[in-house]
Amino acid sequence: MSAPKASAASPGVSPAEKAAIYDYIIPATAPWSRVIHRGQILRIVDLEGQQAVDTLFYNAHDYRERYSAQDTLLAQEQAYITTGSRLISNEGNLMAAVTADTAGYHDTSAGACSCEANTVRFGHHTRYMHACRENFLLELSRYGMTKRDIVSNINFFMNVPIRPDGELAIVDGVSQPGDYVDMRAEMDVLCVISNCPQVNNPCNGFRPTPVRVQIWDPPASSK
Ligand SMILES: [Zn+2]
Repeated sequence: MSAPKASAASPGVSPAEKAAIYDYIIPATAPWSRVIHRGQILRIVDLEGQQAVDTLFYNAHDYRERYSAQDTLLAQEQAYITTGSRLISNEGNLMAAVTADTAGYHDTSAGACSCEANTVRFGHHTRYMHACRENFLLELSRYGMTKRDIVSNINFFMNVPIRPDGELAIVDGVSQPGDYVDMRAEMDVLCVISNCPQVNNPCNGFRPTPVRVQIWDPPASSK
C-alpha cells in the first residue's frame, strides 16, 4: 500500500480569524444533511477518533448530478481522498476540493454498511442493526430521493488499505481525536452524512461516537 502521507494542517479559513456560520455535533449513529454553498468551507471533525463518516454529495440544484467515486479516483490517479483531492461528479464537474486534512487519507472504495451486507459478513443476528444505508435512506427521503439515489460514497476517517493482491481490508482507523478534513464547495452541494453505526468491524473502533460539522463563509476577498 502506498497511501499518501498525512499533510500538515492548512485550513482554508482559520477558525481563529472568523467564526463558523454553522456548527453542529452529529450524534453517534445519526444522519445529517445541509446545503454547502459554492465557496463555503465544510469541516468534519472526528471528535474522538476512529469514527467513519459516510458522506455523499449532490448538486443542490439537480440531484441527478452527484459524487462519483470512480471519476474522482480516475482523475486523481490515487486510491484515497486527501488534501488536494478534487471531488468529481458523475457529469465530470468539480463539486468540492479538499483543502486540509489532518488524518492523512480517506477511503472511497468500500461503500456504506447495510443490513444486507451485515448479514453476509457477520451473521443473520445482525439483520436488525441500524446501518449507514438506512441513515442515507432516511435523510435522502427529506429531498424526495430514494434507494436509487444512493451511490458509492466517501468514508472519511475510515482506514481501508488495499493489499498487494488487491484485497480491500477494513482495519483499525488511524484518525486521532480532533482530526479534521476541510472541503471547499465548488458548486452549491447538498452534503448528506451517515455517522456510521457499525459495531461489527473496526471502522468505528467498535464504539460509534459523535462528530462535528462546521461551515465557514469564504473570505471576503474571494466572494
Ligand atoms: Zn456504516
